[in-house]
Amino acid sequence: RSVAERPDRSANSACPAGRTIETVTADETPLWLFADQLGPRVYDGDHARRPVLLIEADSALRRRRFHRQKLHLVVSALRHTAAELGDRSTLIRAATYREALRSYGRPVLVHEPTSHAAERFVHRLHQDGLVADILPTPTFALSRAEFQQWAIGKDGKPRTRFRMEDFYREQRRRFEVLMDGDEPVAGRWNFDTDNREPPPKGSRVLDVEPPYRPDEDEIDAQVRRDLDEMGLPTVGADGPRLFAVTPAEAQRALQHFVDRRLGAFGRYEDAMLSEDWAMAHSLLSVPLNLGVLHPLDAVHAAEQAYRHGSAPLAAVEGFIRQILGWREYMWQLYWHFGPEYLDNNQLGAHTELPDWWTELDAEAVSAECLRQALAGVRDRGWAHHIERLMVLGSHALQRGYDPRALSEWFATAFVDGFGWVMPTNVIGMSQHADGGKVATKPYTSGGAYISKMSDHCGNCRFDPKKRLGADACPFTAGYWAFTHRHADLLAGNMRTARAVSSMKRLADLDAVLEQERHRQSY
Ligand code: FAD
Repeated sequence: RSVAERPDRSANSACPAGRTIETVTADETPLWLFADQLGPRVYDGDHARRPVLLIEADSALRRRRFHRQKLHLVVSALRHTAAELGDRSTLIRAATYREALRSYGRPVLVHEPTSHAAERFVHRLHQDGLVADILPTPTFALSRAEFQQWAIGKDGKPRTRFRMEDFYREQRRRFEVLMDGDEPVAGRWNFDTDNREPPPKGSRVLDVEPPYRPDEDEIDAQVRRDLDEMGLPTVGADGPRLFAVTPAEAQRALQHFVDRRLGAFGRYEDAMLSEDWAMAHSLLSVPLNLGVLHPLDAVHAAEQAYRHGSAPLAAVEGFIRQILGWREYMWQLYWHFGPEYLDNNQLGAHTELPDWWTELDAEAVSAECLRQALAGVRDRGWAHHIERLMVLGSHALQRGYDPRALSEWFATAFVDGFGWVMPTNVIGMSQHADGGKVATKPYTSGGAYISKMSDHCGNCRFDPKKRLGADACPFTAGYWAFTHRHADLLAGNMRTARAVSSMKRLADLDAVLEQERHRQSY
């Protein structure tokens, strides 16, 4: 079932008339792009003369029960790339990648894909002669080889301590970002203490322009019709396309963010407002993860805003830290820790994800913060960082959801979820299932934190101050139940030991634990 997307470029006409595989010079070996390698830095530059192969493989779209909007974004991105590259590209729709490569009839070059499974797969294709060579991934700032050198350290001994802050400073130096010579601009590496304020009191939305929104076109409409026809198993609601999927859209999204929203980014990075789903976030994870936006382009645009005086340093540093620091660090650690990292479950968490969670049934939930975050995932396949970490992730941690199943859930339910980005974020940062390799302490809190950082609690049937009774906040009570379950571990960590001593002073602890053992609704 191999059908060329554009009628004039069927799989069989991929080899221009009169030429055979033998006469194709190495320079013109076609380049196969995965759906997260769709930017000019991948296919232009040294590769500008190569024909490009794009594959829409049914098996990949059906591999898991993805969010409907994620499938739309990925297929739309592939087809927009084909349209943009015109005659230079061939888009094949096939049952599998292998079938498409066979029908294409020429060995192709490919860049290292972005997951362990895909990497194993392209190595098999290489052995079978369908892939001529595998090139390094060009969609991140730092190469995997350079990270390995950093991981070994200057003295030649493997680094024992991995800290994002060390990595981030090295990245700033290496790429000369926000540096004055050898020193960070303004003498500071980190503006975290100036950032992360609660939302402004009484505001229903942040006083910042709405995010960039792409215009859908006929390609998007056709993708929607095709997805309807294909009857793929999906989760979540369909909806208008909210994220950039082409390099041109990504540039517009980036510029819009830098010019009009970046100034508010750092300050309200951790804040939540019920009527403001995007807050001052960049919404750039989709174009970054599709490869249509290069991280260094985003970083340089933000730095320029600071240098030109149009955005404050604290906001710019906060944003750059996310991209040049966290994103790159998570990518590198994914490879460094290897595929077995996914098996980590050091807190022994085995609770099955409930149906209301996997079905994104937000209306089954009463806790306002959880309901809003889940509704965001249902309606957009997206929630911002603090909703992922301190609402969804914190709930899962408190209730002991199986970390591997949770990682799968994030990978399928989020539009920006890709294989490489989940394990360290979910297993590591959010669930502490790796025993502290990524985060120095488990990230969870009682309702007081959520109440401080959001406007959710005012409208909630639960009371963040209460841990016992019909209106006891599931996060407050859940926090103590979690602290009790892992008291030994938490007592041994300087950053969490205080929680254990506070727990020991609770007169009603037994009643709280009993209540949480039987909690049915959230
Ligand atoms: P902004 O808040 O504007 O941040 C700017 C950029 O920084 C993001 O676009 C992203 O590319 C990068 N970034 C920041 N933190 C991280 C991080 N920890 N890991 C990777 N990139 C980061 N990010 C994804 O890209 N895909 C995911 O599936 C994903 N799942 C997550 C799951 C959990 C439990 C947690 C705690 C975080 C997850 N993140 C994920 C990281 C982060 O939450 C999202 O990148 C961010 O919310 C996307 O929105 P944004 O583009 O508006 O980001």
